[in-house]
Amino acid sequence: MPDAKTALVTGGSRGIGRAVACRLARDGYHIAINYRSRHADAEDTLAEIRERGGSGELCPFDVGDRAAAAAALEKLTAHQAVSAFVHCAGIRRDELMVFMPPDQWDEVLNTNLLSFYNVAQPVVKHMVLNRTGRIVVVSSTSGETGHEGQVHYSAAKAGLIGAVKALALESAKRNVLVNAVTPGFIATDMTKDIDEKKLAAIVPLRRFGRPEEVAGAVSFLVSPDASYVTGQVIRVNGGVYL
Ligand code: NAP
Repeated sequence: MPDAKTALVTGGSRGIGRAVACRLARDGYHIAINYRSRHADAEDTLAEIRERGGSGELCPFDVGDRAAAAAALEKLTAHQAVSAFVHCAGIRRDELMVFMPPDQWDEVLNTNLLSFYNVAQPVVKHMVLNRTGRIVVVSSTSGETGHEGQVHYSAAKAGLIGAVKALALESAKRNVLVNAVTPGFIATDMTKDIDEKKLAAIVPLRRFGRPEEVAGAVSFLVSPDASYVTGQVIRVNGGVYL
């Protein structure tokens, strides 16, 4: 059993999740790095954490697969309590609603939103019993404003904000704090097909964000400094006013 408190980061192998994993390791957490399929990226993230003196382990499963999530979490929690859970796993599949095939709708809702139940439900049960815990959900500006070509993605990300607010109300009396961050455009694999020069013009800071800038907000939300913050949404979007 690791000495440090454990943080489970879904989608912790790449992009924003990787930055969160590395930052929380620096903050002193033992990191359980979840991912679905790209094992080499997860190994790289774990190596980076260890090179900097942190500790972690790999925890691969498809967050959209309830049985797989339950089995992996049972294994993980058998030897440690999860003190912080950051739900970062997500996919983007843009398509206008009029052309959207049903399986794409299902895939985006399942991976981005329904997955929250699969992971948060078993985790929050333990947190409530332990009377302590932090949950941070990585939602999106798309869930606040909507975005063309993202009816499914916007619905999922808005749904996560609703889930955060309700779960925060339910679990506050057990000292389990639940918040969301809503990144705008962040430079990762997910946005590499987007023309930064064109879209940065609508961002007051005139650039895409870095994954580490989202990780900073997550770090605050799982830290002792955020002990009176729950049910909130922190926008990390370069100053876009909604
Ligand atoms: P990314 O670079 O594409 O990384 C996605 C991560 O999620 C990978 O670790 C991937 O693992 C994992 N993942 C995907 N599907 C999964 C599944 N079914 N089960 C387990 N893990 C899964 O994406 P990102 O840009 O860092 O985005 C991270 C989160 O931030 C997402 O929820 C995204 O919606 C949100 N977000 C991103 C932006 C942005 O501009 N980038 C803006 C707002 C919100 P594998 O590599 O193994 O597939």
